Amino acid sequence: MQVWKFGGTSVGKPERMHSIRDLITSTESRKIVVLSALSGTTNALIAIGESAKANQDDEAIDKIKALRDHYDVFVKELYSTEAGLAKGQEIVKNEFSFIRSLVNIKPFTAKREKELVAEGELLSTQMFEAYLEEQGENSILLPALEFMRIDAEGEPELSLIEERLTTILDQHSDKQLVITQGFICRNPRGEVDNLKRGGSDYTASLIGGAIRAEEIQIWTDIDGMHNNDPRIVKRTFPIRQLTFEEAAELAYFGAKILHPSTITPAKLRGVPVRLKNTMQPDAPGTLIATKSSDREIKAIAAKDNITAIYVHSTRMLNTYGFLRRVFEIFEKYKTPVDMVTTSEVSVSVTIDNNEHLDAISAELREIADLEEHDRDQTIVCIVGNFSADKEGIAIKVLEALKDIPLRMISYGASEHNLSILIHSSLKDRALNALNERLFYYEDAMKDIFTAP
Ligand code: ADP
Ligand code: ASP
Ligand code: MG
Repeated sequence: MQVWKFGGTSVGKPERMHSIRDLITSTESRKIVVLSALSGTTNALIAIGESAKANQDDEAIDKIKALRDHYDVFVKELYSTEAGLAKGQEIVKNEFSFIRSLVNIKPFTAKREKELVAEGELLSTQMFEAYLEEQGENSILLPALEFMRIDAEGEPELSLIEERLTTILDQHSDKQLVITQGFICRNPRGEVDNLKRGGSDYTASLIGGAIRAEEIQIWTDIDGMHNNDPRIVKRTFPIRQLTFEEAAELAYFGAKILHPSTITPAKLRGVPVRLKNTMQPDAPGTLIATKSSDREIKAIAAKDNITAIYVHSTRMLNTYGFLRRVFEIFEKYKTPVDMVTTSEVSVSVTIDNNEHLDAISAELREIADLEEHDRDQTIVCIVGNFSADKEGIAIKVLEALKDIPLRMISYGASEHNLSILIHSSLKDRALNALNERLFYYEDAMKDIFTAP
């Protein structure tokens, strides 16, 4: 079996849903098809929730009406039979009356907010399944809320997902196409929850790992993982092959094409992940697997909203156990640390979640001195194949960034990652400078030297 996931833009127009049907029926393999919400819907639902939370009910209702108008037009173009359209309209009517009812309940709690945000995927999958039925396809809709579970820490319950999913799939072994929702899940209290923004990629990978799929395909609006962020850098190109490790670093450090955790379940079970372009289905895309090409520097990604914490203590000099005490504080507040650099008497770390920053700082001050935190920082991450015997990589990176103040540098923790911390206002400059130096400079030099 294969798992194919289609993102927001891939389902965002009726004609795109028509193309997805063509795509998923164009190959023989049995498929689980994971869909996101139509593009813009999750943002619209979040905005409705914000109005409801602020008791701006009129505003919330106006936003619901605007979103509903979009769906009313959408279904008219999606279906070609009266029966199909009637079914589509019924789905929209039911889901929107539920959305409306959520906003009326006071107080508008976090639980309600999660139910509201889940409506995007509930709408897109039901509408698509009704379309497949209208077209006579052998398909079924499996509610993700029946098998996708997270634990109290928000981590997926892998064995439970596997057990439930295999049982349900066995019951529908006659179905060629199994449609389900990305992003949404249940938490240990049985409430509707989600895998965080962009989480449909993670759903696809969790399913692919659980059923030991032949392949996981992530279909989106670009022809694979590019060597740099195409929203910021003009001259980027798709990378044909990446290892699980390289792709995981890029996703974690900000390549938006993949949810940060997508690669973990696929890697665990050795299931290859292929990134494909819905608009150009014949383009090769990117294959993420155990092996990749030998190219040294593969890609660059950047992660924003980073805070750097500088811890200083003369007690650190020639002693042991100090780092453990520092990290225990982050552990206590369940705050992951991304970058770490050390000297004899100081340690600097970065975090991407400031929820517990005050409490963490207070506890750190009990064992050390703190310099002022640097907020609005960005980690720029250069990913590739940097085994210990490779020379000359850092010099190229530093040369490209010679005009940019660097706060921290981390190299050698893994063979795949060189990370640099800079102020976020310098990110665009840094990404562009690195792009030219790491991917085009040598070619340009070759041209100069071979020119007649
Ligand atoms: P979907 O809705 O299909 O999940 P996303 O918007 O989440 O799509 O992800 C695709 C987008 O990711 C692309 O349109 C592109 O702008 C952005 N992106 C950021 N970094 C990269 C990268 N390194 N390679 C490819 N796309 C990237
Ligand atoms: N619809 C969700 C979001 O916008 C999940 C996803 O698109 O992957 O974040
Ligand atoms: Mg996405």
